[in-house]
Amino acid sequence: MQVTCPNCGARYAVDPLAIGPTGRTVQCARCSHRWRERPIAPAAVVPPPPRPIPDFVIRPPTYNSGLPALATPPPKARWGQWLSIAGLAVVVLVIAAYIFRGEILAALPPEWHDFLHIDALRALFRQ
Ligand SMILES: [Zn+2]
Repeated sequence: MQVTCPNCGARYAVDPLAIGPTGRTVQCARCSHRWRERPIAPAAVVPPPPRPIPDFVIRPPTYNSGLPALATPPPKARWGQWLSIAGLAVVVLVIAAYIFRGEILAALPPEWHDFLHIDALRALFRQ
């Protein structure tokens, strides 16, 4: 429903349910004037028992916004999860390569044995 401030003429789009069946005191966001806003039509159907509704401040509508937009949360970045999985896979591969180093060396051609042997690596750092 359309609500117009009687003081400054500012107009607001307000959900009729927010006004309630008995009306409600509203406050203009532009001039802070407060007045009692009546519902559009008196409740001809079975009126629900009136409950006290707290006052609220209404804001002027922004462009192309009849209702508040539902903000979708940004997609969560999963880089940390993928990096930890990749790191775990590398650790498992290194452990498996160390455990099965004998089988791996037996499967490789003989000229690779000196290159891949752990003593060859140690010799690089001895000097
Ligand atoms: Zn006003």
